[in-house]
Amino acid sequence: MPTKKIASKTPSKKSTSLKPIKKTAIKTVAKKVATKKSDAGTPLSVVIRRRIEAQKARFHANDNISKFIQPGELEGLVDEVAEKMQAVLESLVIDTESDHNTKNTSQRVAKMFVKEVFNGRYIEQPTLTKFPNVSRLNELMIIGPITVRSACSHHLCPIMGRIWIGVLPSKESALIGLSKYSRLTEWVMCRPQIQEEAVVELADMLEKKIKPIGVAIVMDADHFCMQWRGVKDRDSKMVNSVMRGAFLKDSNLRREFLSLLDKR
Ligand SMILES: [Zn+2]
Repeated sequence: MPTKKIASKTPSKKSTSLKPIKKTAIKTVAKKVATKKSDAGTPLSVVIRRRIEAQKARFHANDNISKFIQPGELEGLVDEVAEKMQAVLESLVIDTESDHNTKNTSQRVAKMFVKEVFNGRYIEQPTLTKFPNVSRLNELMIIGPITVRSACSHHLCPIMGRIWIGVLPSKESALIGLSKYSRLTEWVMCRPQIQEEAVVELADMLEKKIKPIGVAIVMDADHFCMQWRGVKDRDSKMVNSVMRGAFLKDSNLRREFLSLLDKR
């Protein structure tokens, strides 16, 4: 990966010495990131933001912006976030130079945000192989519990929970492999968001992909912003459900789905 050259781990003035690399687009952008306010001085985040705005697209915390990011730019984004994270640590009056525990914290946190916990904003939707419904299944399927790891967009505190997905396929529905439900869920959840919107987004996506007669989702999660801070209520959980199509109209189907969850 050629982009690795871009910057020193610690965001320092050193970055100005990076000038004479190559002139590919990625390099140029990455160099700009490393230099906070150079002559060319546009941070990569601003470059990306301009592309998004040019398309009049939305870039809320729970939006995926992968189509505006070019190959190799995520590394540059990590470096930019690290630099700003370092400034946060400094404002918190933490001596990251002599405190060995916090020495590379800015870099670690930046990488965790961009490459792990908020990765669902920056990478493309996982490819879903669809299978024709050969045996013309039209019985209730339940997938779950799928482990959910997310973060609230209010405090960036973790949300940890489980999700169950119910699908009532039609004979014409395209089916997706079981593991794909987990991958799609992970992709949606790895973004800062609020639980109510996350389940709706997942339901929309499944409806679009599978075209079932009905989709139901139940999410049950611990919100660390209620436990670690705020009311500090260790036992508070949030349960959400979304019912679509047949699950909305047919109370028996809905009851069947919900009763099967209880048994797990
Ligand atoms: Zn919160």
